[in-house]
Amino acid sequence: MTEETKAATDFGADVFGEEAINTYLSKDTAKKLQATIQEGKPLDPSIAGEVAHGIRHWAMDRGATHYTHWFLPMTGSTAEKHDSFLELKDGEPIMQFSGKNLIVGEPDASSFPSGGIRSTFEARGYTAWDPTSPAFIKRHANGATLCIPTAFCAYTGESLDKKTPLLRSMQALDRSLKRLMKLFGRGEAHSACTLGAEQEYFLVDREYWMKRPDLVLTGRTLFGAPSAKGQQLEDHYFGTIPDRVLSFMNDVERELWKLGIPAKTRHNEVAPAQFELAPQFEELNLASDHNMLVMDTLRNVAEKHGLKCLLHEKPYAGVNGSGKHNNWSVAYGGKNLLDPGTNPQENAVFLTMLCAIIEAVDRHADLLRASVAGAGNDHRLGANEAPPAVISVYLGDQLAEVVDRLERGVGGRAKKADTLQIGVDTLPPLPKDATDRNRTSPFAFTGNKFEFRAPGSSVCCSGPMTVLNTIVAEAVDRIAGELEKAKVAGKAKPGEHTAAFHNALQKILQASLREHKRVVFNGNGYEAEWPKEAAKRGLPNAPDTPSALAALVKKENAALFEKYGVMTRRELLSRHEIFLEEYAKRVRIEGACARDIASEMIFPAVKAEYLESVAAFEKAEKTGISSGTTALRESCVEVGAGLDALRAGILDLEHALAGSDEAAILSSMQALRTTADALEKRVSGKRWPLPKYRDMLFLY
Ligand code: ADP
Ligand code: MG
Repeated sequence: MTEETKAATDFGADVFGEEAINTYLSKDTAKKLQATIQEGKPLDPSIAGEVAHGIRHWAMDRGATHYTHWFLPMTGSTAEKHDSFLELKDGEPIMQFSGKNLIVGEPDASSFPSGGIRSTFEARGYTAWDPTSPAFIKRHANGATLCIPTAFCAYTGESLDKKTPLLRSMQALDRSLKRLMKLFGRGEAHSACTLGAEQEYFLVDREYWMKRPDLVLTGRTLFGAPSAKGQQLEDHYFGTIPDRVLSFMNDVERELWKLGIPAKTRHNEVAPAQFELAPQFEELNLASDHNMLVMDTLRNVAEKHGLKCLLHEKPYAGVNGSGKHNNWSVAYGGKNLLDPGTNPQENAVFLTMLCAIIEAVDRHADLLRASVAGAGNDHRLGANEAPPAVISVYLGDQLAEVVDRLERGVGGRAKKADTLQIGVDTLPPLPKDATDRNRTSPFAFTGNKFEFRAPGSSVCCSGPMTVLNTIVAEAVDRIAGELEKAKVAGKAKPGEHTAAFHNALQKILQASLREHKRVVFNGNGYEAEWPKEAAKRGLPNAPDTPSALAALVKKENAALFEKYGVMTRRELLSRHEIFLEEYAKRVRIEGACARDIASEMIFPAVKAEYLESVAAFEKAEKTGISSGTTALRESCVEVGAGLDALRAGILDLEHALAGSDEAAILSSMQALRTTADALEKRVSGKRWPLPKYRDMLFLY
């Protein structure tokens, strides 16, 4: 077997997918399980025993001795609690895994954040298998574990995880789409949200990482003067991938392929030592689970290559941060609804979806912003190197023109003189590449999907995608409701809609666009003018996490999630509490870490430098040689003043840490950093206690 065929046959080898199902289960059970998976229904309890038995054998054939329910608690990472298959029966060891063990688990939930939902006297949490995300094998040096992707709930059924609301939001969007598509005369079909999550990350040599307590404890550098060469030359983006990194990437991809994750694209990113991995898109909940595994795999494989993978949104000041571009679309009956299409019927559906999405984003920009809020992303959003904190929609010139004409009801299809009526006169068939490349928009139409770029590199896709599904479900539902009221739909067969239907649709979309077009912005989002213009348009701009999270306590937002069955008010409020608390804790950890580094590492180095300078100056003066003493004196003054400033900065940060204002901690940290970074340029390189940016940022 060649390497190439091996890689291909290895694809999905560690996933309990179709092939394993057919090999390890009886024909009848395999068929029932497949149907369960396709329809996204709960597992039929009557087959659970056999499925569990089959999965165990499959897993043991792959070296697994343990199993775990694998879930996404509110910490933002993944959780596992391993149990062995081994059980003693009448004193004899046997290997066992029951249907019940497969379907539900009861991990003690008391140490996971619940935002008050799970009171301590009822600390039990329940994990329940999500059969649409297949079981998989996680390997370690000397063994393997069977992982069963699950949702995690409290005794009351309230969600304690990031997966449950996502699944509910997918159902909400499914209901809305079915309602709409029926009006277009389409028969009931499977709807699917799709996600392709482009993952950005940094790599750093493990040796340097170990010497940076800030990287170890917080994931980002809290100190560090800029490297003379950073990303000015723009020579890293798409550049030749260093050999060391390439072999890391190869290993990562091999691992991902085994897990059935279609890693597809890899390249250098804008910043030095920054890279990207993009998988081929998949159905949303699976893609979201897979992205969690991508992050795990990046971290694990890096270790084997003497590297550390940094998934923080802003590991280094002054160079680009990392995002996670969520490419999202919806398909109905296997057809992508965001593909402009080539006939009037498809165009009408496409335009309806487009208007619904514009409406959704404008109505709920605050929720989208909240969904990407976090201490790490605060350094990225709004900074001059990422989409601004204003949420706007980018359509590209051609589509913007089409939408503009639709809204105004002006005659003339784009660039031609016919009348633009949805479905009556065709839109120009839009070639896929018609959309311009725009890297500055937080929410960009890119040919046949939207790319939500505001999520940070470390975020779990579920949060932002739950919001997106829900707000689009609402807009689609509203438009469908209007169409139903117009009582013109649903009579015709596909492609045979009456003029009355199209007129009604056109009016509805026009009204929607008139109200919501303010959110469309096709310009450069990095320009200083844009936030001002956005303010004039009334678009929200939440500059930091606490202000962004405020969206979660608004009554109307709770009503939205409740209406679409995605989250109860209590669930939403609990999330607000959890996220705020997480933010505060992260800021405090950073603050304490900065204080420790400054007082335990930087201060002693500067002090030693100062004493050495003073001694050198005294010595020089005694020689009676006049030259050189000016430089030495000035250097003493500079370093001495720096030492004073450093001490004042440390005390200031101490003071802020004793208080309850996170913003004060952040600004004290920033001030201390400014002082320390200036001193980095004044202190002998040999003495400086932290690896420098110029060392860490270049990998060869
Ligand atoms: P870019 O130039 O932004 O890298 P790509 O064409 O490489 O664009 O696509 C980026 C991501 O978008 C990939 O993960 C790809 O699989 C995903 N993608 C493509 N089509 C869809 C779709 N219909 N739904 C969701 N994601 C999609
Ligand atoms: Mg992209």
